[in-house]
Amino acid sequence: LHNQENSKSAAEAEFENSIRPKLIEEFSGQPQLVENLTIFIKAAKLRGEALDHVLFHGPPGLGKTTLSRIVANEMGVNIKETSGPVIEKPGDLAGLLTSLEPNDVLFIDEIHRLSVNVEEYLYAAMEDYRLDIMIDSGPSARSIQINLNPFTLIGATTRSGLLTAPLLSRFAIKNRLDYYNAETLKGILQRSAGILGSKITSDAAFEIARRSRGTPRIANGLLRRMRDFAQVIGNGTIDLGITQHGLRALNVDNHGLDEMDNRILATIIDKFKGGPVGITTIATAVGEESGTLEEVYEPFLIQEGFIQRTPRGREVTLKAYEHLGRNKPGSSLQ
Ligand code: ADP
Repeated sequence: LHNQENSKSAAEAEFENSIRPKLIEEFSGQPQLVENLTIFIKAAKLRGEALDHVLFHGPPGLGKTTLSRIVANEMGVNIKETSGPVIEKPGDLAGLLTSLEPNDVLFIDEIHRLSVNVEEYLYAAMEDYRLDIMIDSGPSARSIQINLNPFTLIGATTRSGLLTAPLLSRFAIKNRLDYYNAETLKGILQRSAGILGSKITSDAAFEIARRSRGTPRIANGLLRRMRDFAQVIGNGTIDLGITQHGLRALNVDNHGLDEMDNRILATIIDKFKGGPVGITTIATAVGEESGTLEEVYEPFLIQEGFIQRTPRGREVTLKAYEHLGRNKPGSSLQ
């Protein structure tokens, strides 16, 4: 089973890479972020300098890795990719940093999971392109200084709330990625279908788009499945009928909510009379960290109008009751 899971995720990673935009013009959505980034890249190139360190934060699947590769590509430099938990010791970090050529990008995914020890070495590296490594311990301990080539650190995180103040302050360019609207996702799907050589009708693309939780990764994943349905039970074209059938067969929620979204709404309604209820109380009830609820789940539920924040906690809206097919207490009297 384990092997199967691994090979499946490798195939999925390959699929993702095949449709990943490589140029900034191919990246849709996030207009303000793209506009700013384009200017900063041009300026750094004009000066022949490394781009300032960049942080991308926001929920999974919104394009943080994609943008990081685009930055390196547009800067015309190499990118080395790693992730917070992989860098176990300062020596691992030193190995990565000393292998960079001038102005290269070091991409650290899940940067909130860096160990404290490693993080402290990163400060001087980011600020002065310098590493102070302690060798030996006790009376013979001494530090040696390694000068590094100028580089750009790009950090990505779903949990910016977990980043320490000293690390945050060393990113000159901080960008939050937002959920995509259905129109933009529709365009992304049409582009992906083109790369895959699949035909998709405009209404089918919109239907997948509006049920993808505002997330390109989910939209592309559903496209891949709808292509299967179209090939096996249709004539190869992904049309609205095939899409509605396929999304029903996969139990895709009508509003694109995922299991955790629905569990949060149901919990607030069933256990807390619709709220208001505090975020930590909800977190305990659904078995998730409150920070993850706040940074990964809640923003979408608020944006889509299922939850609202009040001074006394979170409250579900009428839309949440309707979505789950429940009666709002008292609403039958109206
Ligand atoms: P993250 O790093 O934020 O989890 P990724 O950058 O890995 O997300 O993106 C997930 C998938 O969604 C990739 O296959 C990528 O091609 C696609 N994608 C993300 N953002 C966009 C976008 N703005 N335009 C087109 N495709 C996108």
